[in-house]
Amino acid sequence: MSENLTTERPTFVTHLECSLTGERRPADRLAGLSSAGKPLLVRYDLDALARRLTKDDLEARPQDIWRYREFLPVRSCGDIVSLGEIRTPIITAPRTAARIGAGELLVKDEGRLPTGSFKARGLAVAVSMAKAFSVQRIAIPSAGNAGVALAAYCARAGIEAYVFYADDPPRNAASDLTVCEIPLFGAHGYAVNGVITQINPLIEEARERMGWFNMATLKEPYRIEGKKTIGLELAEQFEWDLPEVIFYPTGGGTGLIAMWKAFEELEQIGWIGPKRPRLIAVQSQTCAPIVRAFHEGAEFAAPWEDGYTAIPGVRVPATVGDFLILAALRQSRGNAIAIDETAVEAARAEMAASDGIHLCPEGAALLVACKQALNDGIVGKDERILLFNSASGLKSPPAFRKERVDLAGPNPFLGS
Ligand SMILES: *Cc1c(COP(=O)(O)O)cnc(C)c1O
Repeated sequence: MSENLTTERPTFVTHLECSLTGERRPADRLAGLSSAGKPLLVRYDLDALARRLTKDDLEARPQDIWRYREFLPVRSCGDIVSLGEIRTPIITAPRTAARIGAGELLVKDEGRLPTGSFKARGLAVAVSMAKAFSVQRIAIPSAGNAGVALAAYCARAGIEAYVFYADDPPRNAASDLTVCEIPLFGAHGYAVNGVITQINPLIEEARERMGWFNMATLKEPYRIEGKKTIGLELAEQFEWDLPEVIFYPTGGGTGLIAMWKAFEELEQIGWIGPKRPRLIAVQSQTCAPIVRAFHEGAEFAAPWEDGYTAIPGVRVPATVGDFLILAALRQSRGNAIAIDETAVEAARAEMAASDGIHLCPEGAALLVACKQALNDGIVGKDERILLFNSASGLKSPPAFRKERVDLAGPNPFLGS
């Protein structure tokens, strides 16, 4: 067992802060949105953290998300709910890079995490905090992966989970392989005929009566903190010299917001300089509220009417963190790209056959966007590019045709 789970370490949380107004709230209690209806961010005494923790301290610890304990809100080891959140590998894709004319192409494979997606980072920490506050029942609206991760961590923590996942075939069906684990983990799972934003009101209406804590994306402050480990880990893996460009499949935007927060905290403690990767948000042309708002120069994103896409992770017509995503994209001098989702399966096959890396549809959407960005000159041919493979490709199995050999017939490899 990782010593990170059993060694008490100092924590530095000071308060919670409204991401829009800066209004302060006390830490160490259950929290939803701020009084302005916006996400709350966890703030730390970073000066004290910098005095207590060095890069060498970190280096010596086992490689999982709990090595970043000083940057996380969980105060006591007894509250940690863990299923083995390992450091995910960064894999080079040299043949694909050569084919598409990229300098260096790297894939951070988040499909290795528990329940097969990067949702495990956020939910591991959020469920640990819920356990610390003695929460008994949690509800979540989900496109699939967040619900599965919640179900698993709640099983581990002994908390009751209610998962409502978008399932509106043929337009909005989560793959059965993704959602079949929800009841397996002992959660109450419900297929709902709508997209994720339509599900939340159903939860809010019955929240009090059912005694649910709502763990919807960005509607409580601790999933961002767990997801922040994606940025901390990345910086450490690149030896504190981050790549030039990062592509991110953008749904609710937790990961983009959290990565940016991680980089800010690392700069404040002096571990990285002001240089930042350019963050590029990727959505489908059929549901692209963030891309539209980015190019219109808007501070907030209008909800995308009747938005749907076959790429479950980015099927989010509106998010309460819109202004935080847009600010991170702009401050990083990044961009936002809407892709033609009919190109996704071919991109997935291309990288699988060229480099042996099986991207999930969300990850393959990034490869489509990356080609577009190289063609449009948004990304240079000499830059280091990082793609997040946000889930295991096996959760959304590709189409395939079996080639058969009949043992009763002639050996087809002996010629005719
Ligand atoms: C949730 C999800 C996304 C989107 O991530 P956000 O941080 O919510 O924007 C992308 N890909 C997959 C596989 C997901 O499950």
